Amino acid sequence: MMNQPRIDTSPRVSDEIRKTTCYMCACRCGINVHMKDGRVAYIEGNRDHPVNKGVLCAKGSAGIMQVNAPSRLRAPLRRVGPRGSGRFQEISWDEALGLAKDWLTPIRKNDPSKLAFFTGRDQSQSFTSFWAQAFGTPNYAAHGGFCSVNMAAAGIYTMGGAFWEFGQPDWDRAKLFMLFGVAEDHDSNPIKMGIGKLKARGARIIGVNPIRSGYNAVADEWLGITPGTDGLLILALVHCLMTAGRIDLDYLARYTDAPLLVDEQTGLFLRDQDGRALVIDRATGGL
Ligand code: SF4
Repeated sequence: MMNQPRIDTSPRVSDEIRKTTCYMCACRCGINVHMKDGRVAYIEGNRDHPVNKGVLCAKGSAGIMQVNAPSRLRAPLRRVGPRGSGRFQEISWDEALGLAKDWLTPIRKNDPSKLAFFTGRDQSQSFTSFWAQAFGTPNYAAHGGFCSVNMAAAGIYTMGGAFWEFGQPDWDRAKLFMLFGVAEDHDSNPIKMGIGKLKARGARIIGVNPIRSGYNAVADEWLGITPGTDGLLILALVHCLMTAGRIDLDYLARYTDAPLLVDEQTGLFLRDQDGRALVIDRATGGL
C-alpha cells in the first residue's frame, strides 16, 4: 500500500487570540482576533459576548482588512496634483504636523470658530470633539450625525436607550415591530438576531422602506414608501392613534415634550392644519 500524505485537518490558525469588539459598524459585536506571527490572521465571533453570541457578519469578517489591506494608509499623504486628480505623496509626520500648524495657527488667533472640523467614523470621536473644543470651535461633527446618532436619539426618546449598544426593542414580548428606513445592507447582528426571535414567536413585522431587500424581505408586510415621506406617514399614524384614543396621554404628559405643545393663550392642546386648536378628551382620547 502506498504511503498516503498526512493531512492536517485542523491546522492552528493562530498563536494568540485577543478578545475585543468589532467596529465595522456601531453594534460592537464581541470578536476573537486570531494573531499569527504578530499579524491579524482571522476573526471569529465571540460566543460568550452578550450582543452577538458568536454571530459574525460579513463586514465583521472583513475587519481583517482594516489592518492588513495593502491600500491602508501608513503615512500622511500630501496632495500634489489638482483636487480630484488622485495624486498624493507620502510625507513625514513632522512635515504633516508642521503644515497643519501653519494652517490652523492664524485661524485660532483670529477666530477659532471659523474652523469647521469633520471626521469620519472611527473609534476616537470623543477625542476629536475634545480636540475641537480645546481649539475653540463648536463647529465639529462626524459620520454619526448623518447616521447612527439620529437613531440613538430616537431610541433614547422612545425606548430609553440608544439602539445597538444601550437599549433595544422588547424582542421577547413585542407583538408588532415596525422597521423604518434601515439600510438594506446594514447587516446588524443584534437586529438580525432580534428579528429571528420575533419571527420564531410569530410577531408581526412591517418594513417601511423604498427598497424591499434585506430586513424588508423577511417582513410580513412591506410599505414601499416614497423616499423622504416617512415623517408624513408617522404623523398620519399618530393622528389616527390620537383620534382612535389609543395614545397614552399620561405618558405623554410625564415623559415627553407634548405639554410644550399646549397653547398658553387658550390652554388648548395641539392644533390642526388650519391652526384650529384640538382638544383631546383625556378619558376617551377622542377629539
Ligand atoms: S454587526 Fe457585523 S459589522 Fe457590526 S459590529 Fe457586529 S460583526 Fe461587526
